Amino acid sequence: MQAFDYVPATSLEQALSLLTQHGEHARPLSGGTDLIVQLRGNLRRTKLLVDIKPVPELNQLSYDPSQGLTVGAAVPCTRLCSDPTLCEHYPGLVDAASLIGGVQIQSRATLGGNLCNASPAADSLPALIVHQAVCLIAGPKGYRRVAVEDFCTAPGQTVLKTGELLVSFHLPVPQPHSGAAYLRFIPRSEMDIAVVGAGAALTLRDDGNTIETARIALGAVAPTPLYVAEAGEFLAGKPASRASFEQAALLAQQAARPISDLRGTSAFRKHLCAVLTRRALERAFVRASQIPEVLQTP
Ligand SMILES: Cc1cc2nc3c(=O)[nH]c(=O)nc-3n(C[C@H](O)[C@H](O)[C@H](O)COP(=O)(O)OP(=O)(O)OC[C@H]3O[C@@H](n4cnc5c(N)ncnc54)[C@H](O)[C@@H]3O)c2cc1C
Repeated sequence: MQAFDYVPATSLEQALSLLTQHGEHARPLSGGTDLIVQLRGNLRRTKLLVDIKPVPELNQLSYDPSQGLTVGAAVPCTRLCSDPTLCEHYPGLVDAASLIGGVQIQSRATLGGNLCNASPAADSLPALIVHQAVCLIAGPKGYRRVAVEDFCTAPGQTVLKTGELLVSFHLPVPQPHSGAAYLRFIPRSEMDIAVVGAGAALTLRDDGNTIETARIALGAVAPTPLYVAEAGEFLAGKPASRASFEQAALLAQQAARPISDLRGTSAFRKHLCAVLTRRALERAFVRASQIPEVLQTP
């Protein structure tokens, strides 16, 4: 392991001041499940790790029925998975958080780290996108907000500038008759990287069968997580039927630009895009309809 200094920051001001002062030579440390591995492997170098886990603003987890959900960037996945409010209102996010590694990794790993690491295959990003999450970023010039779908700019690259810190995510209150889901395909049952991931969210009209709005996002099929706006727009006003879901899944498949690598060919990933998007829509529909999940699908 390379040598570096370590400072646990106890306030947001202290964390920002250290990051600004040390510029390119400092990095925020959250759960460390990406960063420590990268430092050990010399894939990244740093002189200072600023531990942001003790910062109160990064540890918030609060739900207001009129404002929505605030999740601090350093909240570990285990806290998300065990929160009954999240399970009820943001099930797609809970699906994703409970897939990240195993229990040990989930006890450390955070949504902030998952997003800032900017892997195209990061599991929480399609789920955050379909739940309309917006990032609150703090930096030397104050605060700014960026939608999750606009945060990653390339593999490993984000909109964050030197000295900036991701503070929290805000997710709006889901409308009545809403549901969401995230699914991924991996060759092993856990601790693996998604070959494809698909998130879907639906809101139904009062008739319980017409789609009011829908959002679809994919992971691991482009240099950054992919928000497929056209697939959601296609579904608006359509019946929540297998035919509608299959059409939307084809639009998602067309938007995907996957590569071939050791874990799957481009053609296989394209195939998975359609299958996983349809299944994620079906699961989101079951949740929006409050049908017990064992009965499943329209
Ligand atoms: C065994 C194993 C299994 C894994 N399985 C999965 C999996 O199934 N799915 C998956 O998506 N990932 C997986 N991962 C990767 C990793 O666990 C996740 O990406 C995790 O969410 C990273 O969060 P972290 O808090 O540990 O981030 P860290 O490692 O602390 O940080 C990651 C990067 O983000 C930066 N950063 C962190 N927080 C902030 C912030 N608030 N503001 C600005 N920059 C910040 C850091 O400087 C660093 O560059 C796995 C990793 C391991 C080791």
